[in-house]
Amino acid sequence: MLVVMQEGAPETQVQQVIDRLVMMGFTVHRSTGVTHTVLGGVGPLETFDTAEFEVLEGVQECHRIVSPYKLANKRFRPQGTVISIGDVKIGGSEVVVMAGPCSVENEEQIELSAALVARAGAKVIRGGAFKPRSSPYSFQGLGEEGLRMLRAAADRHGLLVVSEVMDRSQIPLLVQYSDILQVGARNMQNFNLLRDLGLARKPVLLKRGIAATIEEVLLSAEYIMSGGNYEVILCERGIRTFETATRNTMDISAIPVLQQLTHLPVIADPSHGVGKRGLVPAMARAAVAAGADGLLIEVHPDPDHALSDGAQSLFPEQFMELMGQLRLIAAAVGRSVAE
Ligand code: PEP
Ligand code: MN
Repeated sequence: MLVVMQEGAPETQVQQVIDRLVMMGFTVHRSTGVTHTVLGGVGPLETFDTAEFEVLEGVQECHRIVSPYKLANKRFRPQGTVISIGDVKIGGSEVVVMAGPCSVENEEQIELSAALVARAGAKVIRGGAFKPRSSPYSFQGLGEEGLRMLRAAADRHGLLVVSEVMDRSQIPLLVQYSDILQVGARNMQNFNLLRDLGLARKPVLLKRGIAATIEEVLLSAEYIMSGGNYEVILCERGIRTFETATRNTMDISAIPVLQQLTHLPVIADPSHGVGKRGLVPAMARAAVAAGADGLLIEVHPDPDHALSDGAQSLFPEQFMELMGQLRLIAAAVGRSVAE
């Protein structure tokens, strides 16, 4: 249930509504917008009458939210969520590019990657240190040593870090080294992990599961948000369909659909979406044209020798060229990409 306070309602009135909600058994989540405070109550929906709240001082309106996700619902924060990390804003007018190799492999590889990512104007370097590989015999990542290398390279080039957390036990390490914690497609419904991330105070990049519906993506975001962490970035990365021409089927329509349903920033990962580098630029351009708030792209200084996902990793020159194209497309849809 949602209580929208009147414009400028004083704190005493907001508190009175919060107290009433708590008394009735609701857990209260607060969203403070520029003009209105919105209170989201999660709890025993059957037992209350919205009129009880509508008559309270300072209340403008009160609604039951029938959708299964409440805090991720657009109505909780109609103005949209902008996640600020340092001077980077995700969900604002700038399209934020996050790029780098699939995995952190060694000092030299990650240094070259950070240099090229920063030179191209991307703001965030990606790189997995804990890798969810389909085969137990494939490279599994360098663990903490990889995180340390990634952080150091990012700091040398003024970049933020996004890296994957595969298990609850890894959260403290990721919080220490990474600015954004990535939940991979395979873990989108690892509910214990999601609950623990709800208690973390770092933004989470939540990737769509390979067979997840949009409602399931939003319910997974709700798990994180219901723990009090509202900084969730959603990521379309392709879903599994009957099509075999591409690694996954990049669902570009998920971008505007999610943006209708939620206030959370929505980004796209064209690399895992198609799995072949020749197709990645077209899907990256399409995602920006469709309104994505950011991109997650794999680029490697030497893709042919990458330890994971080489076939879908862009060559440095390809990435540079793509960034130039993205700037033109962003401008055409009223956005921008940093130089
Ligand atoms: C990745 O980003 O390298 C990754 C493993 O992605 P996904 O979870 O989308 O497969
Ligand atoms: Mn990858």
